[in-house]
Parts: sequence; structure tokens; C-alpha cells
Amino acid sequence: MEKINIEEIFAQNVFTPAVMEKYLPKDAYDEVMRVMEHGGELSRETANVVADCMKNWAVEKGATHYTHWFQPLTGFTAEKHDSFITHPDANGKMMMEFSGKELIKGESDGSSFPSGGLRATFEARGYTAWDITSPAFVREDATGAILCIPTAFCSYKGEALDKKTPLLRSTQAINEQALRILRLFGNTDAKKVSPCVGAEQEYFLVDRKKYLKRYDLLYSGRTLFGANAPKGQEMSDHYYGSIRERIGSFMRDVNIELWKLGVTAKTQHNEVAPAQHELAPIYETANVAVDHNQLVMETMRKVAERHGLACLLHEKPFAGINGSGKHNNWSLTTDTGVNMLDPGDTPNANIQFLLVLACIIKAVDTHADLLRQSASDVGNDLRLGADEAPPAIVSIFLGEQLDDVVRQLVETGEAKHLINNEVLATGVDTLPDLLIDPTDRNRTSPFAFTGNKFEFRMVGSADSIGDPNVILNTIVAESFCEAADILEKADNFDIACHDLIKKYLAHHQRIIFNGNGYSPEWVKEAARRGLPNLPTMLDAIETLTTEKAIKLFEKFGIYTEAELNSRKEVLYETYSKTLNIEANCMVEMASKQIIPAGFLYMKDLAGAVKLANNVGVSDRAARNILTEVTELLENLEDALEALKKALGEAQAIKGNKEKAFAYRDQVKVCMENLRKPADRLESITDKSIWPFPTYEDLLFEV
Ligand code: ADP
Ligand code: MG
Repeated sequence: MEKINIEEIFAQNVFTPAVMEKYLPKDAYDEVMRVMEHGGELSRETANVVADCMKNWAVEKGATHYTHWFQPLTGFTAEKHDSFITHPDANGKMMMEFSGKELIKGESDGSSFPSGGLRATFEARGYTAWDITSPAFVREDATGAILCIPTAFCSYKGEALDKKTPLLRSTQAINEQALRILRLFGNTDAKKVSPCVGAEQEYFLVDRKKYLKRYDLLYSGRTLFGANAPKGQEMSDHYYGSIRERIGSFMRDVNIELWKLGVTAKTQHNEVAPAQHELAPIYETANVAVDHNQLVMETMRKVAERHGLACLLHEKPFAGINGSGKHNNWSLTTDTGVNMLDPGDTPNANIQFLLVLACIIKAVDTHADLLRQSASDVGNDLRLGADEAPPAIVSIFLGEQLDDVVRQLVETGEAKHLINNEVLATGVDTLPDLLIDPTDRNRTSPFAFTGNKFEFRMVGSADSIGDPNVILNTIVAESFCEAADILEKADNFDIACHDLIKKYLAHHQRIIFNGNGYSPEWVKEAARRGLPNLPTMLDAIETLTTEKAIKLFEKFGIYTEAELNSRKEVLYETYSKTLNIEANCMVEMASKQIIPAGFLYMKDLAGAVKLANNVGVSDRAARNILTEVTELLENLEDALEALKKALGEAQAIKGNKEKAFAYRDQVKVCMENLRKPADRLESITDKSIWPFPTYEDLLFEV
């Protein structure tokens, strides 16, 4: 096997600062570094120099085209390739060119991307703008080598039409507010605070030939029919199990591709469900982590195809076994290397940590609805609240020790001792040194403190991690801002800070829950505490435009009210379109595959009954099965007609919101009713007749 030298290949296709230093003149390089660190715009001359060097570097890598690589509201990435060629000169010679203008700004007909009404068709132009904080890269595959330039995507008037623009805005907001908190504690060296994110990505791998035989997987990414296999995940033999060669060889190629693109693929293992796996990179700044997570998903899909596999990123590809999520690990790190979510080991650091913690608790309690919304997508509705996934109710897990500190602070205003730890309060009169045990985990919590970061576990596996990080950055920026407003004016900072921590914890303690998030008691308890329970995606959409939300987003310049309204429209539309595809696909499979298979089996059984009668043996077995098959076919036919009717009615509705609810409350119910008799029929029908691969074939014979 070919040897891999990670040091040599890592980031070999990335226009990193080191590459820039080599290719750019010193003053241009300095200007780029300055803008990367502190924002602002490159001068036109520098942009031209950078573009030319970037092109030369990319051409050396074999690139023929460049693309502005952006993230429209579809949740996927988009690209349009332009080659570097220009008009040939009089001698027919062609000079390759790439200008600063082309690097910095692109114009595209954006009318086919979702805009939620923000862009009228007469103003269909969309603009892409270079995001200098996420490095350009050359992607190599059968298409050739393409220079990809990460960009934001906006309308003519600058309204955000993508996932990146609000993320960049929120990164700026949290930077400003977090710096105010640091300054209060005497930190004057940090110049910048960046949200850092590590996204663990779960996925399924199935055999591609089988995948292609299932229209549901092909069109909707999940199985819409399918009886459970005799075995599921009950033996826990897949989790961390040894990785079989076919899968391992896929993982190896994914890692190589990702390393070349500068993605720090770090951990890989088998997950709980059969055929389910996970990849985790090392955390990095949120903006780059969002881009890299898109590259992870894209690379997995592509490499799977090369290996005769299909990578399923859907949140719930199979009923009855675990679905897939994405754990969004989030922290705040200064340019001097301090993690604000690290308890630290000096009394001063501890108090800063407790203030940061109190602010996060306040933010999550105040905006639990928005956080829940940020993790919702159509597929995740099938996962959240089911047995294996976090519930749709947002709560915070702190771990026993920290929970006890919070309780002491709320009850007595002082935290004097730590449980499970021999180190007691030293040198401080009000707060003990904290030694957080990072192994203290509660897997049922949607938002868990894990030592020096929060792990948001609700995010769906197929979704961009852009939205959840926009919300985290923004809501924490708000509570930092409020705390800083109070503390900057305080006469006695120590007392004011102590009082504020106590107040925030006392007011927002209800969001803390250390028990079993999967239990039905928690749903009741959460209701008693007044925590929002938004079970489905549609229940959560309106949270984007409550008075509280609009105030929050406008205050920090994240979204205008018009942008929020447009996003809502897109979400409602996406919901209806997704359900429409799924329902159509079910109609197709039931009409053309499942019902005909049932008739074939009926014919066999009728033949068996006749034969039994002819030869004079009992026809009981054949007759019983024939009766059940016939009844199931009748049920199937009824359910199919009901689905078609509900689908027709939903399709006729005009308003986006009303239509989406019709899909959820009528169409989806009919889909479930159609699935039941079909799955039962599958489980009693001769396997050689069944028209597509079953769960057994897909999950256990990869
Ligand atoms: P698990 O949650 O499965 O036990 P790990 O604790 O190894 O996994 O971490 C999971 C992810 O958290 C990785 O992507 C890792 O890089 C990321 N991570 C670790 N520390 C931080 C941090 N301070 N901020 C953000 N992400 C982090
Ligand atoms: Mg995790």
C-alpha cells in the first residue's frame, strides 16, 4: 500500500499564509494578513497582485478554472466554474488572467437559489464576495483541478442570501463583546476573540448498487419503506467495533483528500447503528469549521462513489435504528491562546469563567427557542425527541460538580466546596478553585458542558453548521454585552461581578438539567419549568421573528427583519418541497413496485392453494398467508389513494406556511399509514420477489 506522509500532503492544495508569504510581495502579504486579522478591504492594487499570485499558484497545481464557492440557503454549496482563459492575441496566443476584481466580487444569476422573496426576479442578480478569512483551495477530482474561493452570497442591496454572511456578522459581534469581558478582568493583550468549532460528523455507508435500486434513497436520502432486519443495534457490537477493510479503505481516501484540503480529519470510528460511522476534525475558527464541514460532507459523498459505496448523510436514513447528528463543539478562544470556557486555575480566572458560564446559561435560557430552531431541518424532525437523540427541548448539562457550585452560589451566594474533589477553596473568600472533570458526560443532553467547551448535539447530520453557530455567537454576544454594560459602570467590580453571576444563575437555573433527557418525565418537568418544547421544525420557524428575536438580531447587525422573513419563507418552502418529493416517491414505489410484488406473491399463493386442493392435502397454510396478503394489498391501495388525495390538496395550497402545515399534518400522516401495510407485506413476501434491497441487504452486507 502506498505510504502516506501527512506532513507532506497536509494543506498541499490550500492557499495558506505560508504559501502567500512565498508567492506574494512583502507589502501585499502584510496587507492580506492585516485584513484577515482585523477586517477591512484590500486595496485594488493589492487585490490584483493577490489574484495574479493565486492564479499562478493554482495553475502550477494544474487548475484550469476558478469558482466562487458559496453556501446558498439550500444548505449545500454552489459553484460556477470560469476558466482562466482570455481573448487570444493577434497571433492566436492566449494569456491566462485572473484579476483582483474577479477574485473579490462575482456576479451571478441567482434567481434559481432560494431567496424567500428578498430578490424580485427583475433584480435577479446575486453577488458573491470573497471571504478572506477562509483560505482558497484547489479541489482535484475527475472534473479537473478547480481553484475554489470561499465567498459570501448577497443580493444587489447587500441582503444576505446565504449561510456565511450572517456567520461572519455574528463572529464580529461576539468578538467585540467578548473583548469587553476580558478587559473587565484586566486582560489587555488579547486583540481578538474567535468562536472555535469542532463538528463531529455521523454518516451511513451502503453499497452503491443496492442504493441505486432504491428510489427512496436516491430521491430523498432516506428509506421511506422497509421492514426492520432481524437484528438492529441491540448487541452494541458495531460501536467502536473493528473497522472492516472496505470501510477502512474509504476512510483512508477521505482522510487523504481532506488533509490535502487542510481539513484536520482526526478521529474515525464505527457508530452505534450498523453501517454507521463518524469522523471528527480538530476544532478551528467557526467560519473555517463551517466551510470545512461542507468539504467533509462533499468529500465523503464523492469518495464513497469511487469505492462503490453511497454515503447517506440524512438524519434518519433507516427507521428503528439510530439516526445521525452532528455534535457542534463550541468555545471562545483569544488570539493569545486563552479559552474563555476553560475554568482556569487562578481565582481571577475562575471568576471570569463563572461569569462567562452564567452569561451562556442566561443566553441559552433566554433564546432556547432560537437555538432549537437553528438545529431544525426536515430530516431532523425524525430524529430529535426519538429515543437515541437529544430531545427537542433545549436544556444545559453542567456535570455534577459544576452543578453543585451553581446551586451553592444561588442558595448562599458563595461556593465553598467542591464535590468529588479533594481540592477545596483556597485563597478566595467566595469561590473555590474549579477542577472540572471532563469525563463527566451525559449523552442525553442537547447542550452539554464538556470540560472547556459546550457540545450542542441537536444539529442534524446533513445540515450546515452555519445557523447553529450564528445563534450561539449572537445570543452569547447579547448576554456579554448586557453584563459588560453593567460591570463597566460598577464602583466595586468584584462585588458587582459576584452579584451579577448570582443573579444570572438564579434567574436562569431552570435551563440546567442533569437527568435523563430521553425520559417522558423530563417532558413534564420541562413544561412545569416553562421551557419551550417545539417538537417539529414547523413549530420552531416563527421563533425567528418574535419581538425578542428581531431585537436581538438587529441590535448586533446579524439579520434585518426582511432577511428574517425571507429565511422563514425559505424554510416553509423547503419543508413542503421535501415532503412533496418523499410523498411522490412513495406513491411511485407503492404503485409500481410494492403492489405489483404483492400481486405476484398472491398469484403464487393462489397457485399453492389450488395445488393443495388438487392433490388433496391441507391448503390451510397457503390460504392463511393468501388472506393476509390480500388484506394488506387492500389496505395498501386504500392508503395509497388517501395519500394521493392529501398530496393533491397540499399541492393546491398557495401560502408557504399553510402549505407546509398541510404537508406535516395531512400528507405526512398518510405517508406513515402507507408505510405500515407495505412493511408488513415485505416481511411475509417471498424475498426473491421483493423489488428492492431490504434493510438486511443494506445494513449488514455493505
Ligand atoms: P467526543 O465528544 O466524541 O468525546 P472529543 O472530546 O474528542 O469527542 O471532541 C470532539 C470534538 O470537539 C473534536 O472535533 C474536537 O476538536 C472538538 N474540541 C475539543 N476542544 C474544543 C474546544 N476547546 N473548542 C471547540 N471544539 C473543541
Ligand atoms: Mg461528542
